[in-house]
Amino acid sequence: MTELVKTRAIVLRKINFGDTSRIANFFSEDYGKIPIIIKGARSPKSKIGLIVDTLNLVEVVLYKKDTREIQISSQIELLQYFSNIREDYNKITYATAIIELLNSLLMENEPHKKLFEGTLRMLSLIDSTNENPKLLFVKYFLFFLKEIGYDFRIDNCNACGKQINIGEEVSYNYETGLLCQECRKERLTNFNFNSELVGLLFCLRTKKKCNYTEENLDFIIKMLEKILSYHIHEFKGIRSIKFN
Ligand SMILES: [Zn+2]
Repeated sequence: MTELVKTRAIVLRKINFGDTSRIANFFSEDYGKIPIIIKGARSPKSKIGLIVDTLNLVEVVLYKKDTREIQISSQIELLQYFSNIREDYNKITYATAIIELLNSLLMENEPHKKLFEGTLRMLSLIDSTNENPKLLFVKYFLFFLKEIGYDFRIDNCNACGKQINIGEEVSYNYETGLLCQECRKERLTNFNFNSELVGLLFCLRTKKKCNYTEENLDFIIKMLEKILSYHIHEFKGIRSIKFN
């Protein structure tokens, strides 16, 4: 069955197809990640070809057919271009990292409305505020992991169940998860967090203003990347923010 539907979507990636067309991955509000073929998109006269650019928020009208791997659109309108992000190296770096996470880790055709809304909210914050884009990205990364089923929590020790408090030091093991000071003594640890990092990780989950250093944010990003690639072997890290 084919139905004509309309949905908001963020453009994740586009690749050339044939001589004149493109196939683009969209993260849509109602249908999750979907590939759509844009016929004639590479012609300089194609308005849709210009609109379908990574990061843009668009409204797509498509003839949706569940048996079809690649959907066909009849109309695409530009809703938001995020011009401030595009003009700032730091903003575009972390916005691209968000797009990369979505493109590489979402399954096709699995709707995820809450993740869509959270993504849009974060892109708007990066675009319209002076908040450090790296800090916003770390917050998004934690939210993203929770939404795709790899919630990173520091409330309790995963071995003995003891509650972790601000001011403590903890460790992390890929298999067991978080380890308190006692339990980490007799186990292998992959990451150690000093009390400053534990405090920051607690704060990042709240709406409070957090004290942080760039080094601590880098550490958290690297750690979350490693945890993800431990669980999802195809994930090789985020290319747009490769650390030297
Ligand atoms: Zn413990």
